Amino acid sequence: MTRFFFFWFDTMDFSTTLLGWYLAHARDLPWRNTTDLYHIWVSEVILQQTRVAQGISYYHRFIERFPTIESLANANIDDVMKVWQGLGYYTRARNLKAGAIQVMEQYNGSLPKTYKELLQIKGLGAYSAAAIASFAFGEPVPAVDGNVYRILSRVYGVFTSIDSTAGKKEFFALANELIPKGNAGRFNQAIIDFGALQCTPKLPRCIDCPFAQYCYANQNNLISTLPVRGKKKPPVERFFYYFLIRHNGFTYIKRREEKDIWHSLYEFPLLEVNTRFEPHELIKAMNTLSFLSGSNVKILDISNPVRHMLSHRTLWATFIILEIDKPNYVLSEGFVRVPIGNVTDYSLPRLIDSYMAAEPVEKYFSSSK
Ligand code: SF4
Repeated sequence: MTRFFFFWFDTMDFSTTLLGWYLAHARDLPWRNTTDLYHIWVSEVILQQTRVAQGISYYHRFIERFPTIESLANANIDDVMKVWQGLGYYTRARNLKAGAIQVMEQYNGSLPKTYKELLQIKGLGAYSAAAIASFAFGEPVPAVDGNVYRILSRVYGVFTSIDSTAGKKEFFALANELIPKGNAGRFNQAIIDFGALQCTPKLPRCIDCPFAQYCYANQNNLISTLPVRGKKKPPVERFFYYFLIRHNGFTYIKRREEKDIWHSLYEFPLLEVNTRFEPHELIKAMNTLSFLSGSNVKILDISNPVRHMLSHRTLWATFIILEIDKPNYVLSEGFVRVPIGNVTDYSLPRLIDSYMAAEPVEKYFSSSK
């Protein structure tokens, strides 16, 4: 373990300084004004991979639509996914619903009250369980996330990689030393706000930071070096060809069921390939598609490839609008037949939703072309 810090800046000073800063700078966030555990739970799940500014509107919408654990447990998964649409990381929504069912069945409808028990709830990892346990019950367990890594690595000069198991253990141990036993919830809240407002990833406000004179990174001009990360793998590229099939004004969509991105969301019939097609390769590939076989196909439009970035993948999507003279049994039985104008009623990946919003696809469905 490599850790540098000034001998006079002990754990008490850190938490006292942080809590003093929080007193003056705490953000007024909707989930901080509630004691409803379910609401805190929803907010924590939303904030796992979402910025606060984006998360607030989703939080309000979600709570309004599913106001209680019971209502979420009884909800249709399509409705849950629709409310979550656009937020990404859809496993969170599925796990939240699964967790609600688990709480109804195993805990009589009430979330358990300890960190250890909260970890048993589907979708609640160490961070969220620590956040709920400390915010709601004052349990002194640190909620360690990117903010904690960044702030502690800079203040204490910790050079262990935050992607490594050793690094995760080291930062948890350090945060555990620092968290004040009687004020754990405020400490965890304060770190979140300090990371969002003061010690930001780029351009932290060292000039008026209360840690400035003790902070190892600030004193040694190492702000862009800390925290240390392992090498990132380059994103994997995937090539999607979506078919907007017109027949009598209707089109076809299907729910994704594979263990993959966008599970439970709806999409158009898809051909995924490893490399980008040349036009003649696309036409050749279309002749092999089971959902088009046996029908006369007339292509109405082919979009330019649309780039869509996910955390570890880059998707290139091409949308092909085409007309068929008769749907075969693969289409009729394996897909949902919907008027094109109703496609957006279903929960869609942001990629498809954005395409539908940007492109006047309905004109291709209004009359024969
Ligand atoms: S001095 Fe700068 S780098 Fe150090 S904790 Fe404060 S804002 Fe972060």
